[in-house]
Amino acid sequence: MQIQNAYLTHNRPRTIRKQTTAIAVHWVANPGSSAMANRNYFNSTSRSVSSNYIVGLQGEVICCIPDEEMSWCTNAANSYTVSIETCHPDWTGAFGSKTYASLVELTAQLCRKYGLHPQHGGVIRHYDVTGKVCPKWFVPASKGGSDTADGAHWQQFLRDVANAMGNGNAAASAPAAAAPAAGYRVKVTADALHIRSGNGTSYPVVGCIRDKGVYTIVETKGDWGRLKSGAGWICLRYCRKV
Ligand SMILES: [Zn+2]
Repeated sequence: MQIQNAYLTHNRPRTIRKQTTAIAVHWVANPGSSAMANRNYFNSTSRSVSSNYIVGLQGEVICCIPDEEMSWCTNAANSYTVSIETCHPDWTGAFGSKTYASLVELTAQLCRKYGLHPQHGGVIRHYDVTGKVCPKWFVPASKGGSDTADGAHWQQFLRDVANAMGNGNAAASAPAAAAPAAGYRVKVTADALHIRSGNGTSYPVVGCIRDKGVYTIVETKGDWGRLKSGAGWICLRYCRKV
């Protein structure tokens, strides 16, 4: 995967993020458009829109804004996410194989750089932040997207990113298995538990735990525990100690 830097001179706020707790994935919602065409749109439109990266139809990757800096892509999550826009050939939103391969590789590279776990809230959809159908291929059909009811495309993508990081299946249990002395373990009891960037509901949602799995908490503040994976904080009222 080659990354071409074509930095924006417009719609680039030049703000260094204080924290990066997730990678946010998008689709461009403009079938057949190229990565460079989307980059040029960001650089000229009067709308305040931009993205850190765009993955193109041939698998090419353009960096529009260095990933340490904020982009205007994911609404309330801009301050804590790196954004990736993804090109697609048609309105189903399905990604071509070259595009998909680069998207997986880029996401894995960024997860490694920022110490994020794709299957524990480290990779999110625009949909997770605002409910927008974005990226369409990763949003269930019942919500207007092209994914299955149980999110098969999205779950496969998260697995593919984990595998690309070299974590594979072991990654799913890594937070619980690693160094229990550094924290304590809890089992999530809720069907869907939000991960937030801080210890309270006033902090933005950065992910969601849906596997009722066992997670390691390394810091506790009131009802809230910080995940060892670095994904963020969860409310311990929806967990039990194991
Ligand atoms: Zn989006």
